[in-house]
Amino acid sequence: MVELSTNFVTALSGVLDPDEIILDQEKLTPYLKEWRGRWHGKTAIMVLPNSTEKLAKIVTLCAEHQIAITCQGGNTGLVGGQIPQGELLLNTARMSAVRNIDPKAMTITVEAGMTLQSVTDICVEHNLLFALQIASGGSATIGGAIATNAGGMGVLRYGNMRAMVLGLEVVMPDGKVWHGLSGLHKDNTGYDLKQLFIGSEGTLGVITAAILQLFPKPANIITAWCGLQNVEAALQLLSHLRTNSFSQISKFELISKQALSVVLKNLSDSRAPFSDAHAYNVLVEFETDEFVAIEEALSLALEIGIITDAVIAKSQKEADALLALRENISAAQKPEGAAIKHDISLPLSAIPQFLQQMQMVISDKFPGTRFCVFGHLGDGNLHYNLLQPADVNGDEFLSARDQITSMVHDLVHEMGGSFAAEHGIGIAKIDDMQRYKSPVGLKMMRAVKQAIDPDNIMNPRVIFKQPN
Ligand SMILES: Cc1cc2nc3c(=O)[nH]c(=O)nc-3n(C[C@H](O)[C@H](O)[C@H](O)COP(=O)(O)OP(=O)(O)OC[C@H]3O[C@@H](n4cnc5c(N)ncnc54)[C@H](O)[C@@H]3O)c2cc1C
Repeated sequence: MVELSTNFVTALSGVLDPDEIILDQEKLTPYLKEWRGRWHGKTAIMVLPNSTEKLAKIVTLCAEHQIAITCQGGNTGLVGGQIPQGELLLNTARMSAVRNIDPKAMTITVEAGMTLQSVTDICVEHNLLFALQIASGGSATIGGAIATNAGGMGVLRYGNMRAMVLGLEVVMPDGKVWHGLSGLHKDNTGYDLKQLFIGSEGTLGVITAAILQLFPKPANIITAWCGLQNVEAALQLLSHLRTNSFSQISKFELISKQALSVVLKNLSDSRAPFSDAHAYNVLVEFETDEFVAIEEALSLALEIGIITDAVIAKSQKEADALLALRENISAAQKPEGAAIKHDISLPLSAIPQFLQQMQMVISDKFPGTRFCVFGHLGDGNLHYNLLQPADVNGDEFLSARDQITSMVHDLVHEMGGSFAAEHGIGIAKIDDMQRYKSPVGLKMMRAVKQAIDPDNIMNPRVIFKQPN
């Protein structure tokens, strides 16, 4: 736990307003719980600065007093990196200003604590698109999304967060500010330093602002839902739509029968797209107004047996209802009891074999496990979630977490995939880093951390295994 010396608290009080320092444990409680209740943290203090200047002073003080910091944005991270275990908790929620929007350059400069939804809403007012869309966007912040290099549903067309960041402002572990808020597309003046902070999960500094690339808002979006017999067919469908020159595919989401059934069961007002259940479903979104061409491509896919059913939304309301079926899978799993979740990516061609092999092995060892598989199939990213068998106690199922996760990650690694596709490492996957990351890669990462944060002040328990 942070040792709150009188000197430190007095110095902090000289920097922050009283309401920017939280010491009351009751008020701290919501910030110490992870969304799914998997991690519970502790801290003696949370600070909520409202400017880069104040934030830099806090970090300077922490560096002087050798006080470790855990940085937190919207607290929606799924690998535990934002939950303090004794460190000072630095929350960016009050740094939520728009510094500039430039419709000609199609860029926006925002502070790190702004939520993704707020950025989206402002861009809509200017007829522009902020392309990062994730189901947690109402709470997740720009700083958190950059720190985790968030992905989501639009990666297929727009790339992940890394692709949208043009420049950053960062408070470094010694409290100095790196002013890297350049909107330049071309700047080959040595190392591209902003890239270090994207995906660094708060271990190298606190991101305080970013300049982001925006896109023209698509004039028309067509949303379709397809039923399929197997995952091979889903990959065929992607290829079929691409070869029919629909390069404007902006979402291609896989939803297994089990994943759809938990949403239909637990989300009020949800309706099944078809009367029959299919082994797999695909939600596909096109940024185009070529309704007839899409109808024809899907009819052809039906005719040649790639898909077994299809529906195209005829209104925004229908499109939203289809999207809600996909977006609410995570929330709808909660009432189903214990879940062991994996955020993995694989080469597209390996996905069918992975699913088949894994299902056989897990069903054999843990009969009755429910396979709630869904994800951004277009990017090869699966949320491979296993729900407890109905007749097994949740804690008993969770006691097999390490064993099951090793089985999953071993096969992913063997097939050339990644054990951390979009949520990051946090504290959840530190052992996997040791196990699967190349020693040369790990050594380089440690060297970067050591060079930038030699005293290990920033998120000290995250990404790297600490010496005992
Ligand atoms: C329902 C749900 C759906 C989700 N869907 C997706 C999805 O589709 N794709 C996806 O990629 N993720 C998804 N996530 C995960 C999560 O929303 C993202 O990782 C998000 O980017 C985290 O943002 P946050 O502001 O909540 O960060 P936090 O949870 O507060 O922090 C996450 C990490 O970033 C660090 N951090 C936060 N702010 C800063 C900062 N300003 N400077 C430096 N480090 C910082 C923290 O220390 C921590 O290590 C989902 C989560 C939920 C609950």
